[in-house]
Amino acid sequence: MNIRLFKPSVGKEELENIKDAFDRSWIGLGPKVNEFEEAWEHFIGCEEAIALNSATAALHLALAVFGFQKSKKVLVPSLTFSSTASAVLYNGLIPVFVDSDPLTLGMSLDDLDEKYNRDCVAIIPVHYCGHPVPMDKIVPWARERDLKIIEDCAHTTGSEYMGKKLGTWGDIGCFSFEEKKLMTTGDGGMIISNDSDLLKNVRAMRWVGIDKDNWKTAVEYTSVNKDALHWFYELSILGYKYNMNDLAASIGLAQLIKLPEMNRRRSEIIKMYLDGIRNTELISPLLPFDPDKYIYQMFGIRAEKRDDLMIFLKSKGIATGCHYTPLSIQPLFIKWGNNCPFIEKEHNHFITLPLHADLENGEVDYIIENIEAYK
Ligand SMILES: *Cc1c(COP(=O)(O)O)cnc(C)c1O
Repeated sequence: MNIRLFKPSVGKEELENIKDAFDRSWIGLGPKVNEFEEAWEHFIGCEEAIALNSATAALHLALAVFGFQKSKKVLVPSLTFSSTASAVLYNGLIPVFVDSDPLTLGMSLDDLDEKYNRDCVAIIPVHYCGHPVPMDKIVPWARERDLKIIEDCAHTTGSEYMGKKLGTWGDIGCFSFEEKKLMTTGDGGMIISNDSDLLKNVRAMRWVGIDKDNWKTAVEYTSVNKDALHWFYELSILGYKYNMNDLAASIGLAQLIKLPEMNRRRSEIIKMYLDGIRNTELISPLLPFDPDKYIYQMFGIRAEKRDDLMIFLKSKGIATGCHYTPLSIQPLFIKWGNNCPFIEKEHNHFITLPLHADLENGEVDYIIENIEAYK
């Protein structure tokens, strides 16, 4: 047995879409990106979606559009991937790390109250593993304090919380299509908002500051008006090279069609895990997974003897991980950290178990048997 922790589920549909892009000989920023953006707007039900090369880029630009004064502060969970807090540093801002709720592992509302001060300008809740942060409480809390809200939705793709899609609760939502996420474009991301005005500069910001992409120029040149200033562009804001390309968007269009089925399968696997470990001593689910309601990118457990169990599972050909070492104790961030006592200790019990849409029942049973076999 050799069971991977994560695995993208890609096949002939993606290949056919890529072939289409090849046949048209347009593989950079082009019409497939636009098509994917429109499909995403429809899928989430948001006003504006702009495709980027990663969620890291989305988080960077999400903060950048507000033009915050340097050295202001942004509330981020300690238990998250590096990008959530790196984006704060990219913008010359300071991360304020927030401890986790002991049960759900989302941002602790008590610690938010504790950590907030008047220098804070924004908050980035992360729906850790895909489990929703209580946005019905966070949004009014943040609005009272005049904080901008950016949802890091890298672990959730299409879930609703209290009847409203995650990613649309705050000002801006950021999604990831990195290969380990719920759906993939190889690498990729999406920035969304229900306020198009807020994202009005993002098309330029993702394309080195040019607010007119290659494809439009080419179409004008070849069809509309040969005398038009098809070559002309104006640089008025600082841009980055953050665009998605047509190859990635081609994969994304196929993945989006498969997403409901992939999500259904993930929920099914999580139910098998929950059932299987129900009576296993010294092991509990990482958080109150509710696979009938929400979509999860990761599944994990808390184990008394974490390291020994991980080594045992490895010897059985089962890959595991720990998500994450809290950022507040990472060398890069520690000068703003060392201040989230619960998660800085508790993460030592976390084990992430294999979860992807192609995982077979036999493999899940094998993983459960080995967790049980370990004493
Ligand atoms: C993966 C991830 C990101 C970054 O996504 P990329 O598309 O790889 O840049 C951001 N936040 C969280 C919580 C993630 O898990």
